[in-house]
Amino acid sequence: MKPEVFEYHSPTSAEDAVTLMEEHEDAELLAGNQSLGVQMANRLAAPDHLIDLNEIEDLKYISETGDGIEIGALTRHTTIAESDHLDRELPLLAEAAGEIAGPSVRNMGTLGGSLGEADPAGNYPTVMTALDATITLQGPDGTRDVDVQDFHIAYMMTAREEEELIVSATVSTSPFPIGRTGMSFQEIKRVPHTWPKLSAAAAVVVDDPDADEPVVEEARLAFGNAADVPLRTEAAEDAVEGTSLDEDALSAAAEAAMDASEPAGEMQADAEYKEDQVGVFAKRALQAAYDNALEE
Ligand SMILES: Cc1cc2nc3c(=O)[nH]c(=O)nc-3n(C[C@H](O)[C@H](O)[C@H](O)COP(=O)(O)OP(=O)(O)OC[C@H]3O[C@@H](n4cnc5c(N)ncnc54)[C@H](O)[C@@H]3O)c2cc1C
Repeated sequence: MKPEVFEYHSPTSAEDAVTLMEEHEDAELLAGNQSLGVQMANRLAAPDHLIDLNEIEDLKYISETGDGIEIGALTRHTTIAESDHLDRELPLLAEAAGEIAGPSVRNMGTLGGSLGEADPAGNYPTVMTALDATITLQGPDGTRDVDVQDFHIAYMMTAREEEELIVSATVSTSPFPIGRTGMSFQEIKRVPHTWPKLSAAAAVVVDDPDADEPVVEEARLAFGNAADVPLRTEAAEDAVEGTSLDEDALSAAAEAAMDASEPAGEMQADAEYKEDQVGVFAKRALQAAYDNALEE
């Protein structure tokens, strides 16, 4: 099938994109076209106006802020995966970007498109939730910041208003001191280059990586596709904080994560299997993050 007829717009600034959204009621934003194109070709989306963001150079960047790293919405998955800056300071982001689909999707797909699509299985939604990111939206009244946990409302629904676009995501690096932090992204994929059935994103900060039994000072753990929004499991984090990640602590974290999860069943992965795997992946992701912290 071919898409319905639409009028094409190519603004060169975020302000112009917002103006176009104000002027045209039935408009859709286009970024990397890795999801929207398929939806339009199948007539699952049929906007009258298509606002292509690709000429907005100001939305393509990875930059240092006072306390963290800000990534522009039009930054491609490949750029994030290959960023030395991110690999050093927030390796979870680079690792998760590198696991998205195959090279052709990564070369075109964008951070903003992935957050805009808000699939609870999406790598960035999961990782940004673990890292407690702030999403910045721009609309007719200027910009506003939304905590990632308030951004995701339900399956493919976000706090973004109709006339707003995502302009960036920012992650504070101060909770993750280099040299004492390890991170890990783990996922189940039935077939390479497809979406994960389940994913887990973990970060662990230890008190002293050279100690005999380093103690977990801070843990972060979030899951993709384990509920209808990306799921941060704070009870699981609490279960390992203050421990040296022994088997009891890992089992308590796994139990807490399974209790918090509400996965939907799907082909090749029913809800019971996914809930069971939440426990397995809680342990696996936390252990890998802890091991990475000790190798720093
Ligand atoms: C075969 C395949 C496998 C994939 N596997 C994975 C995977 O393993 N993990 C994963 O996370 N993703 C996966 N994806 C999705 C991929 O990451 C897409 O690139 C991404 O979801 C959409 O990004 P995009 O830039 O292509 O957005 P588009 O397709 O251009 O847009 C997607 C949606 O986001 C909206 N949008 C775009 N930009 C903005 C913005 N700045 N502000 C607000 N709304 C915006 C659009 O209006 C549209 O509704 C896969 C895709 C394919 C085709």
